[in-house]
Amino acid sequence: MSPLSNLAVRDIETVLHPYTNLATHRDTGPMVLERGQGIYVYDSSGKEYIEGMAGLWCTALGYGNEELVEAAASQMRRLSFSHLFAGKSHDPGIELAEKLKAIAPNEASKVFFVNSGSEANDTQIKLVWYYNNALGRPNKKKIIARTRGYHGVTVAAASLTGLPANHTDFDLPIANILHTDCPHPYRGMEAGESEEDFASRMAASLDELIQREGPDTVAAFIAEPVMGAGGVIIPPKTYYEKIKAVLDKHDVLFIDDEVICGFGRLGTMFGAEAMGMKPHTVSVAKALSSAYLPIGAVIIDDPMYQATVDESRKIGTFGHGYTYSGHPVAAAVAVKTLEIYERDDIVGQVNSVSPTFKKRLDAIGEHPLTGQARGLGLIGALELVADKATKRPFDSKKGVGARVAAFAEEEGLILRAMAGDIVALCPPLVISESEVDEMFDRLGRALDRAEAWVG
Ligand code: PLP
Repeated sequence: MSPLSNLAVRDIETVLHPYTNLATHRDTGPMVLERGQGIYVYDSSGKEYIEGMAGLWCTALGYGNEELVEAAASQMRRLSFSHLFAGKSHDPGIELAEKLKAIAPNEASKVFFVNSGSEANDTQIKLVWYYNNALGRPNKKKIIARTRGYHGVTVAAASLTGLPANHTDFDLPIANILHTDCPHPYRGMEAGESEEDFASRMAASLDELIQREGPDTVAAFIAEPVMGAGGVIIPPKTYYEKIKAVLDKHDVLFIDDEVICGFGRLGTMFGAEAMGMKPHTVSVAKALSSAYLPIGAVIIDDPMYQATVDESRKIGTFGHGYTYSGHPVAAAVAVKTLEIYERDDIVGQVNSVSPTFKKRLDAIGEHPLTGQARGLGLIGALELVADKATKRPFDSKKGVGARVAAFAEEEGLILRAMAGDIVALCPPLVISESEVDEMFDRLGRALDRAEAWVG
C-alpha cells in the first residue's frame, strides 16, 4: 500500500505543479493545506505551520479576514462580473483606480488592471513599445532588467526575470530584453569597496550597456526595490539615485516592480519610498488584495497616458486588455484591503514589529550555517554558506537550503529555499512580536538540525 494519503495520490496523478521538481514530486507527494487563520495554516492532518512566506509573499493581512470575505460576497451578490472593455465601467474599478492613484509612488495618471504580477510586467513592456511608437521612435524598444531580478513567467515577463531556471529550455529571453548586474553587496562588493563605490560601479556598468547597445534603442529599465525571489537582495546605499541619473541621461523609462514590496512590506507604503526610487510607471499585485483574489495593476504617468491616447486615436482602439482586467469582485476586495491598510496603519504595524524581526534576524546571522542574514521591514533572508570567513557556498547538489526548509516544515514553519541556498522569510504583515519570536525559534531549531545533518 502506498504510504501517501489518498489526496496525495490523486494530486500526483492529476496536478502539474508550478515551480516543483516534477520528478521528485512523484515520490514525495504534496503538502496539502486545508485552512488558515491569522499567520497560521493547517495541513490535512491538522498540523499547524506559521506561514513564514505569506503564501508567495502575498497574504499581507493573513488568513480568515472576514471583512475581505464579506467584501467579496457582497460584490458577488450585487454584480458578479462586469468588464472595462469598450468604455464600460463599474464602481469598484473606479474606486480602486482612485485609491491607487492617490498613493502611488510615481506621478500617477491612470491605472490599468491585470490579474497577476506577470501580466502587469507584460503590460509594462507593451505600453513602453506602444509609447515609443506613438512618439515616432520605432527603434527605442529594448528593456533592461537585472540578473537575479524576478518579474514573472509569461513569455515577456519571464524574459525580464534574470534567473536561469526561467529561461533554460523555454527558449528565453526573447529579443530586445537585456540584463545588467545584480547589486548584491554580499557577493558583489570588492575588498575595500564602500557601498557607495559599489553603487557607482553598478551604475557605470548600466551606462556602458546602454552606450554599447545605443541609447536610441533602449526604452526602459525595470527593477524591484528589493529583489525578492532572486534572494532578498537589498541594493547598496545610493544605488537608485545613481541608476536614475544614468536612465535620465539616456531618456530611458524607469519601471518600478512593486509586486512584493508594495503596501508596507519594507516599512513604507511602497518600496520606492524606502529606496529613494523615482519611477515613471509602477506594477503592483499580490498584497493589493492581500491575495484573497487575483488582481494587479499598472500605474502610468501622464506622458505615457497621452501617448496611448494618441496611438489609440490613430489605430481606432487601445488593443490590450484581459477579460478579467479589473474584475469587480477582485476590485472590491482590493478596495477593502487598501481601506484596512489605511485604517489599521499597516505601515505603522510593520514599523512596530520590524525591530524585533531585525533583532532576531541579526541573531540568527551568527548561526554557523549563516553567511549573511539580511532584511528590511518584514522581509528577510539567510544566505547559507559552507565557510563563513570566505563566503564559500555549499555544493549546490547538496541542497542545504532545501534541507533547512524541510526541517523548518517539520518544526511548523513554512519558508522558501531559493537558488544559492538562500532561505527567505516574508511573513504576513499582521504578525505580532510574540509570533515573530515563535517564527525565529522554529527557524533556529531547523538550522540546528541542518547543521547536524551537514556534519
Ligand atoms: N514581480 C515580482 C517582484 C514578483 O515577486 C512576482 C512573483 O513572485 C511577479 C512579478 C510575478 O507575479 P505573478 O506570480 O503574480 O505573475
